[in-house]
Amino acid sequence: MKIIADLQIHSKYSRAVSQRMNIEEIFTWAVRKGIGLMATGDWTHPLWVREIKEKLVETGRGTLSIKQKHIKEITKEGNIEIENATISQFRNFAISNRAPEFLLATEISSIYSQGDKVRRIHNLVWVSRIKTAEAIIAELVKRGCNLGSDGRPIVGLTSQEIAELVLTIDETALIIPAHAWTPWFSLYGSKSGFDSVEECFGPYAKHIYAIETGLSSDPVMNWQIPDLHNRSIVSFSDAHSGPKIGREATVFDISSLSFTAIREAIINSNAVHLQTENQKSKIKNKISCTFEFYPEEGKYHFNGHRSCNIRYTPEETKKKGFICPVCGRPLTIGVAQRVAELSKQVDPVIPIQKLDANGVRWMYHPKNLRPPYVNLVPLAEILAEVLEVSSTSVKVFEAYERLTAACEGEFNVLLKTSLETIRQLMSQRAADGIKQVRAGTISIDPGYDGVFGVVKVWREEEKKEPETQQESLF
Ligand SMILES: [Zn+2]
Ligand SMILES: [Zn+2]
Repeated sequence: MKIIADLQIHSKYSRAVSQRMNIEEIFTWAVRKGIGLMATGDWTHPLWVREIKEKLVETGRGTLSIKQKHIKEITKEGNIEIENATISQFRNFAISNRAPEFLLATEISSIYSQGDKVRRIHNLVWVSRIKTAEAIIAELVKRGCNLGSDGRPIVGLTSQEIAELVLTIDETALIIPAHAWTPWFSLYGSKSGFDSVEECFGPYAKHIYAIETGLSSDPVMNWQIPDLHNRSIVSFSDAHSGPKIGREATVFDISSLSFTAIREAIINSNAVHLQTENQKSKIKNKISCTFEFYPEEGKYHFNGHRSCNIRYTPEETKKKGFICPVCGRPLTIGVAQRVAELSKQVDPVIPIQKLDANGVRWMYHPKNLRPPYVNLVPLAEILAEVLEVSSTSVKVFEAYERLTAACEGEFNVLLKTSLETIRQLMSQRAADGIKQVRAGTISIDPGYDGVFGVVKVWREEEKKEPETQQESLF
C-alpha cells in the first residue's frame, strides 16, 4: 500500500503556531490533503500529550487513530466550516476505517557549544508508544529541560546526548535531523551547524538513517552530498497551520501501516542500500517518492541580505564575494551555497525528468538509486492566481473545498484528476494552471535571507483578463 505521510508539524503549543492547531484541525486538513499518516507534533509538551491521550488511541501497530467519538463530533458539529462533501468523506472514512492515523513525532531544539562554536540543531524524534514518549519526557525533565514553555522545547543537551537518551530508552526510536540545511537551526546550517552527521552525532551517527530536506532544498541537492549516500531523504511540511500541512510530504510504499514498516522504509531507501539491493522491487517497505516545494520558494535558498536588498546565486558569490556591498557585513549564506560546499563538487548527479500519463514531471535519479520526487505548488496558491485574489481569501477556500471534496484530496487534484474534470468543477483557467504546475512550466523568484521565494503559474505578461468564475451548475 502507498500512504502519504507528513511527519513534521506543530501544535498550538509551539511558538508562532495557529491557535486552531488541535487534533481535529490537523485531522481535518489531513483529510482535505489526502494524507494517510500525520505527525502528532509536540509530544514533549505536557498539555499536548494530554490532548493526544484524550482524543487518540493506540492502534497496537505503533500508530494512533482518532477516537470514534471525535469523528462524530467533527461530522455533527463541524470543527471548522466543513461542507457537506467533506462531511460525507468523513463518514466514508469512519465506515471503511481509512481515517488518517497519527505517529508520535516531535521536534527538539538543541542549543550548545561544541568546538568553540554555538550549535543550534533541530531534531525530530519519532516513537511508537505513548509509554516510550513518557519515559523520554521523564528523562528530559530529570536533566533539567523545560518542556512546558514551548511545544518545540529548547534544551541544552547536545544532539549526541539526545540520541543517547532516546535510544537508551527505545532502540527502535528514530532521530531525524530536521530541515537539515537552514542556516540558523540545522545539522548542515551555515551559521551554527556541522559539516557531517558524524561530527554532530559522534558514535550515534550510524543510527541517523535519514535527514529531512526542509523547504529550501530538494532531493537532487541532497543527492550530491557524499555524507548522505547511506541515508534516506525525507520531506515534511513543518506546518504551523492547517492549510500548510502537506506542502512537503513523503509517500511510503509499505506492506501494511505500522511504525515498524515506516522505520524499515526509512532504513531501506538510501543510495548505498538500493545499489547493493539487486531486486529493488522486492524490498517490502520503502519510500516510494517525495512531494517537494520548489526549493527556490524556501526563504533561505540563495545568499543575501534582506534589509540591503542583495541576493546572489552561488555563481555570483564566487565573483562578487561574501561581503554585502551595501552594509559591509557578511551575507547570510543560503542553502544552495552550502550544498555546493559540502558536495565537494564531485560527479554532479543530474536528475532525469520524465512526464507521467497525467502530465506530471517527475525527477528521477539517473541510476535509480533514490526515490523520485515531484515539485508542487500548493493548490490554494494556484487557485489564488486563477481567481486573482489572495490565497487566504474565502473565495479560494470555497473553490479549494469544492475541488478537494470532489476529487478526494488536494494531492489527487494536483497529480491525478483529469484536466477535463477540473475544467468542469472549476474553469478552463484552473485546468490550465494545474497543467502548467504538473509540467513545471512556471516562473520562480528565489528566496534569500528569510524572504520567501515567489512562485507564479503565469508570468506577468501572460496575465489575462480576470475570469469570472465559470462554475458548472448544470
Ligand atoms: Zn525546526
Ligand atoms: Zn547588507
